[in-house]
Amino acid sequence: MSIFSPPRYQPPFRPMRKEESLPLELFTSVEKAIKGALFGCRMCGNCILQETAFVCPMTCPKGLRNGLCGGASPEACEVDPSRPCTWYKIYERAERMGRLDRLLEVNAPIDGQRAGRETWLDTLRLWRKRKQGPNPVNFFTNRDKFNQEWEQFFYELRQPDWWRGDSNYHPPAYTEPISNLEARLRSGAFVITAEIAPPLDTSSDTIHQKAGWLKEYVAAANFTDNASASPRMSSLAASKICLDLGLEPVMQLQARDRSRVVLESDAIGAAGLGIRNILCLSGDHQRFGPGPMTKPDQFDMDAVQVLWMLRRMRDEGIYLDGRSIKRPPQFFLGAAGSPFGAPPKYEAIRAEKKINAGAQFIQTQPIFDYDRFTDWLEALDKRNLLGKVYILPGLIPLRSSRAAHFMAEDVPGVVIPPDLVRRMDEAGDKQAQEETGVIIALEMMEKLKRTPGIHGMHIMAVHWEIIVPRLIEAAGLRQPATENATLQNSNLVPEGAK
Ligand code: SF4
Repeated sequence: MSIFSPPRYQPPFRPMRKEESLPLELFTSVEKAIKGALFGCRMCGNCILQETAFVCPMTCPKGLRNGLCGGASPEACEVDPSRPCTWYKIYERAERMGRLDRLLEVNAPIDGQRAGRETWLDTLRLWRKRKQGPNPVNFFTNRDKFNQEWEQFFYELRQPDWWRGDSNYHPPAYTEPISNLEARLRSGAFVITAEIAPPLDTSSDTIHQKAGWLKEYVAAANFTDNASASPRMSSLAASKICLDLGLEPVMQLQARDRSRVVLESDAIGAAGLGIRNILCLSGDHQRFGPGPMTKPDQFDMDAVQVLWMLRRMRDEGIYLDGRSIKRPPQFFLGAAGSPFGAPPKYEAIRAEKKINAGAQFIQTQPIFDYDRFTDWLEALDKRNLLGKVYILPGLIPLRSSRAAHFMAEDVPGVVIPPDLVRRMDEAGDKQAQEETGVIIALEMMEKLKRTPGIHGMHIMAVHWEIIVPRLIEAAGLRQPATENATLQNSNLVPEGAK
């Protein structure tokens, strides 16, 4: 148990090497015991407590360092319902302390060399090396100067040179659209995207069939990336098959189960194959998978960090380790939005962080409660975000009363008003339930079509992709056939990939 944070979910890190001397080892043990009792510290060696209202983010079961996940709720953590959500605690305390805006800084992933080691002596060493304060005398004689020096000192301490995260907006450093999806969004058209779950086996027939249904109706198709921690054909392979069929993919890339090296490698590989749209996610915790479960630390990075890293690969032409990329990748970067997770004012901070880091479009979780969705949009507007990102609200057509109950009761971050569940319950047989699901979806599409601040819709039909063309036709949202979706002959493809 700790005084200022929820209890630790995973044990503290161990150093890669034993400390050089016994006194140092003893010192590290004392630091570990004190910080463990106060903050549930895991000795990550990259302390950001000052940015997180003195609640340790490493007590989050996913180890998220940049905000809450889509399934967080005021009652409990989605991974372990017996404990509170660490990030809820952080937002609440930061708000009480008037430090909410400090949560905007993009925090670095952990430096494995520092994990498990003491940090108090490191702090002292940096202070002596800097020779630029903070000078304790200034605390009494010139408080403003002291505060400035203090802030700069701790910024240098928590932001390693290879990361240098900040809280500023970084617009893309290119002018021409990178993908057809981006071109469509820039044109001001109301853009529809749809999701296809990659197959469970090696057959690409399913993708051929589903892409065939969607090709004339949507601007791009999303491919999920082992959602719910269940293995399927990789998002990369499915995206490439779809691209070759003439429908532009949005490759979902999640941080779970991938180290920073693999994330960079997969993204570069995707760009080399002509895949331009990448949706960056933290990923579902492995506890939602069919099991057996992997070891607990499966998140080397979070979605915000992946966005920050991929944007810098594209715009600055560098890998995380600082090596330059001779022919930088071209990415149109997206993120997930959670209108129903935390209160909108907190979710807007999380969205701002993703946009600042590099998100150019946001696809949200499914909208069933229109009023709560517009509360979220308003919160984004208050933070001046609506002109900086394209927003595609999610839509799921309910196929059965059972699916409605499952989503309302078991899927974190999804809210379905009780009267919608009741309509599905009272619909009648299987076919009648499907028809009621279509009617409910069309009602929502009608509202979304007229909503200022959004740029289209993202339909997640969950193995019912054949319904998508009907929905789009009935809503009057049929789009012209995708032009130039196969980028093989496009000048958007780097030389080597043609
Ligand atoms: S709900 Fe999500 S963000 Fe909150 S503590 Fe659990 S895993 Fe972390």
